[in-house]
Amino acid sequence: MPYVITERCIGSKDTSCYDVCPVDAIQPSPDGPAFDSHDQLFIDPVACIECGACTAVCPVEAIYEEGDVPAQSQASIAVNRRHFVDEAASAP
Ligand code: SF4
Repeated sequence: MPYVITERCIGSKDTSCYDVCPVDAIQPSPDGPAFDSHDQLFIDPVACIECGACTAVCPVEAIYEEGDVPAQSQASIAVNRRHFVDEAASAP
């Protein structure tokens, strides 16, 4: 199962996860124009190869393997997936 960034990212938006992801599955890019318009980062569930590197570096413990997402953060699974659906729909 892919990894998921939960709402615990909000207020932190630390980009250590982005830096270590070997397949660029985490968005938005800290250097990109969309970074300031989102309150957290997201993981593309299709691109994620489930290496776990992002979880190890997250300073606020916001990232979980999908099957381990806490009950109170279950909505984050859809939030992460939805981000990439919306990004694709708005692409020119
Ligand atoms: S688990 Fe690995 S591949 Fe998936 S988002 Fe985290 S660092 Fe990237």
